[in-house]
Amino acid sequence: MGSASSNDAIRSISNWAIAPAQPRPAGQRKATEEFGSLTFSEEVQRARLPKDVYRALRRAVAQGEPIEANVADIIASALKDWAVEHGATHYTHWFQPLTGITAEKHDSFLSPSADGRAVAEFSGKELVRGEPDASSFPSGGMRSTFEARGYTAWDPTSPPWLLVTGNGVTLVIPTAFVSWTGEALDKKTPLLRSMESLSKQAVRILRLFGSKAQRVTATCGPEQEYFLVDRQFYFARPDLINSGRTLFGARPPKGQEMEDHYFGSIPDRVLAFMMEVERELYKVGVPLKTRHNEVAPGQYEVAPIFENANVATDHQMMTMEMLRRIAPKYGLACLMHEKPFAGVNGSGKHLNWSMADELGNNLLNPGDTPHENIQFLVFCAAVIRAVNKFQGLLRFSIASAGNDHRLGANEAPPAIISIFLGDQLTDIFQQVEKAGSAKTTKSGGILDIGVGVLPKLPRDAGDRNRTSPFAFTGNKFEFRAVSSNQSIALPNVALNLAVTESLDYCATELEKGLKEGKKLQAAVKQLLVKLLKDNKRIIFNGNGYSEEWQKEAAKRGLLNHRTSVDAYGEAMKPDVVKAFETYGVLTEREWHARYEIAVEQYNKTINVEAQLMVLMANRYMLPAGYRYQGELAASVNAVKAAGATSKESRRALDQICRATDECKVRVDQLQALLEHEMNGDAEKHSRYFRDKVVPAMNALRDAGDSLECIVPHDVWPFPTYREMLFIK
Ligand code: ADP
Ligand code: MG
Repeated sequence: MGSASSNDAIRSISNWAIAPAQPRPAGQRKATEEFGSLTFSEEVQRARLPKDVYRALRRAVAQGEPIEANVADIIASALKDWAVEHGATHYTHWFQPLTGITAEKHDSFLSPSADGRAVAEFSGKELVRGEPDASSFPSGGMRSTFEARGYTAWDPTSPPWLLVTGNGVTLVIPTAFVSWTGEALDKKTPLLRSMESLSKQAVRILRLFGSKAQRVTATCGPEQEYFLVDRQFYFARPDLINSGRTLFGARPPKGQEMEDHYFGSIPDRVLAFMMEVERELYKVGVPLKTRHNEVAPGQYEVAPIFENANVATDHQMMTMEMLRRIAPKYGLACLMHEKPFAGVNGSGKHLNWSMADELGNNLLNPGDTPHENIQFLVFCAAVIRAVNKFQGLLRFSIASAGNDHRLGANEAPPAIISIFLGDQLTDIFQQVEKAGSAKTTKSGGILDIGVGVLPKLPRDAGDRNRTSPFAFTGNKFEFRAVSSNQSIALPNVALNLAVTESLDYCATELEKGLKEGKKLQAAVKQLLVKLLKDNKRIIFNGNGYSEEWQKEAAKRGLLNHRTSVDAYGEAMKPDVVKAFETYGVLTEREWHARYEIAVEQYNKTINVEAQLMVLMANRYMLPAGYRYQGELAASVNAVKAAGATSKESRRALDQICRATDECKVRVDQLQALLEHEMNGDAEKHSRYFRDKVVPAMNALRDAGDSLECIVPHDVWPFPTYREMLFIK
């Protein structure tokens, strides 16, 4: 790079201009008209499908009833007509293989007709089932590559939408992906299965409280954090291009210490980008709600309104894709990595999670007087039990090489899974545990700001705690340890499954109590007391970053897996495997495949990063160091020849020689470690990466960053942190 290309980047950034401010640009429709305009929404379905077909489809969506072949035919034909009217020429079964990103294979609607022309056709069979070659997707040992057959199966609960790109329109059909033998090869299938099983157990409890509800869905609202950097800087960084994060980079003089970015006014170019992303996502039915600056310079967040967890997961994938796709139009690159820049905050994805019945009642809504709402207390205590019992599974569900830079490092949240309940609920549960029931609810009261003209605000009953990995936030739980780059499918599955098992336990206990002639109140009391006694160690309202918590958690016997490698083993613990099997979410084989892929992905990630570091050091950084060494040496000689003396330039020469030498030694050490044989047991290799390779990478980074600090700017090959984070 050097200053020449750096100057190019800066010039084009400062020349970047947006259209003059106007309320609504010409040709743009109102947001309310635009929302869902590219989805085969309920409204479109009602308008275009015969009444009985429409009803059958809605029943399938609401109650999970299967759709008959002849009904599917009619839906397919209406779907095709709608898509073709909107300009679609192709359709795709869109699925979420175990790579963690989405996959699509496009097929044309056209089929040749006898008279040498073509007609657009789409049958129920094509809607319901696709057959992409499955051999090149990871299967975690479930299949060998010659067993290539895979099927995609239409998910009628997630609405199809239109992908509009430069040269045409494609109908996108959300699908599940399974092998010829029926094994789940994707992330959606277990999610759907876990939602079914959660519903079954939750309904059992609701029945006991006299509810007529038939179905419960997991609800989910994921908040996405991301970074934006100028694209020219991005292309000048091999590490950003190939690993999504900076593997080198000296700390800039100014980072996030001034706290002047969070919720600050959004720069014009970034705001223009956000608005286009939102508009495009509105069209395909993603209900985005909030946008703001995040803590680190260059970091932002977007969050939707919550939906059922399956649709929310699809929409989350679409949101990530849209962020990546639109950024280049604004000369930006969107970084979703958990830690693109050392020394400033990383990115997470807060997963807000709850359960609701089909009438929309939120089962984790405590109401104004939670102590009277014993149904709420049961559901809430069931979640507490679930998180305590399945800490390991939850920790596994968020483990990755990228998330290691957040969890267990000096950053939010810690690697210990615990629950923040807040003062109000903690107080209630303490009363329950002591007396069997709670008599009072601490209220927040009114917050008087002390200025007559300002309104009096109702105060929440508890403050927030940003350090907790799993916090109750008023009427839902927020799983904050989820990482920015991952699909939310697995964390959702983990939560659904853990809570399913726990609700099953609660329902069984309550049913037993009732059978023995207890009144419901009494049975609930007994259950709650037991649940709290057994599981209260998971509740922690204090500072999750503190040293004391590490000690306290150890005393309580909570898991504390600081690295992913430590956490992977949790997947195959007997309780976890048993729960997957018992509730039909994944067979042991299917689940083992997920474990295997997670470990492999860790190994591959570290391997790629380490190779990249070697490449960057050998081909870019060391040559820059040698160049400057030569320059300085020539200067020292010239000074001497001219009869002058400069002790300090001589010292500078020594300093650069030492720094380049150090860098060379470190890169050779890392390279030697990478020559290690990599066949066989994946978990063994992951330990090798963790214990040998990662420390060598850190050492090389330190050496590289020291070198950066003394090499002149016009010789240094990469844009610096200062430039990437602050020039917008
Ligand atoms: P907070 O201020 O606690 O972050 P917000 O109201 O901003 O709360 O919500 C954050 C996210 O939580 C949003 O995506 C929101 O839609 C989601 N959310 C709210 N209620 C629920 C719920 N019942 N289930 C799942 N997600 C929810
Ligand atoms: Mg939040």
